[in-house]
Amino acid sequence: MTSIYSYSLEDLTKLMQAMGQSSYRSKQIFSWLYQKRVASFDEMSDIAKGFRERLKENFNFYRPTMRLKQESSDGTIKCLFRLEDGQEVEGVLMHYVYGYSVCVSSQVGCNMSCAFCASGLLKKKRNLTPAEMLGQVLYFDEMLRARDPSTHVTHVVVMGTGEPFDNYDNVLSFIRIINSQFGLDIGARHITVSTCGVVPGILKFGKEGLQVNLAISLHAPTNEIRDQLMPINHAYPLEQLIPAIIQYGKDSGGRRVTFEYILIKDVNDTIDCARQLAKLIAPTFGYVNLIPYNPVMENGFERSPDQNIELFHNFLLQKHIKSTVRKEFGSDIDAACGQLRAKHKDGN
Ligand code: SF4
Repeated sequence: MTSIYSYSLEDLTKLMQAMGQSSYRSKQIFSWLYQKRVASFDEMSDIAKGFRERLKENFNFYRPTMRLKQESSDGTIKCLFRLEDGQEVEGVLMHYVYGYSVCVSSQVGCNMSCAFCASGLLKKKRNLTPAEMLGQVLYFDEMLRARDPSTHVTHVVVMGTGEPFDNYDNVLSFIRIINSQFGLDIGARHITVSTCGVVPGILKFGKEGLQVNLAISLHAPTNEIRDQLMPINHAYPLEQLIPAIIQYGKDSGGRRVTFEYILIKDVNDTIDCARQLAKLIAPTFGYVNLIPYNPVMENGFERSPDQNIELFHNFLLQKHIKSTVRKEFGSDIDAACGQLRAKHKDGN
């Protein structure tokens, strides 16, 4: 039986039609699920009892359950969610001046093996379903509303464990559910998908007609450095990645990407690297989000000194590359991706 939370409005409409119902039925169900937040078909009082019974035979209300919660003094909340097969994934809630953002995991583990990432230590076990991604958002949204009815989740970033374009169709359904005006109604400009650089996914995504943001985990200005940090670069080196991003911009009506760039001491944080980076990305008109490295494991990488971060940032600005240094969240909890889950698995 499939979770009703796994269906986008478009998919549910097709299903309802196949079950002999009008297309209006799917909007009714969406409204019960996401506006009235009911958790049983019996509560959907404007749907005939006979059809509610048929719905019960075909769908359930499965969502991941919250297992462990860590709350930082800066308001960041990290949760470990248990899935129905016993696997666990992390989701994080961050409080910004402009609202509340949830960082969603899209896979159990990850096969991309980025050298700086705790999530990549655990190989991919499986993809998450749309219901399992949505469940992370709904948990935080309901928690916020219970604390203060005027607050709710305003932004979603698919930037947790997993490579979203390695789970393309499920991630797309998830985005359609949270973006739908009958679903969570989170504006497309408030949704960001982050890829490590899966070129076919970038090209496909550009043609979906969505207005959501795309972030590219770049982290290096040359193939030589990127090969060391991100094995995906062997499959899709910079001479393929950058043209794909330019093509994405054309196909998506001029959407600009954000480049994520983790600054690691003596690896990618020199002025030479900043110079190469500025030259590399200039044709894309993309923004750069500089992220001070958060040392989480024994890999020999260290955080860039503040002085290097400032010099790097200023150099990009001088070259007219829009760039910001990301605020660090949850420094007093296991905030880095995969850290809480790894620790819990170790029995700590
Ligand atoms: S950074 Fe992202 S793509 Fe790379 S290993 Fe970690 S979760 Fe996977």
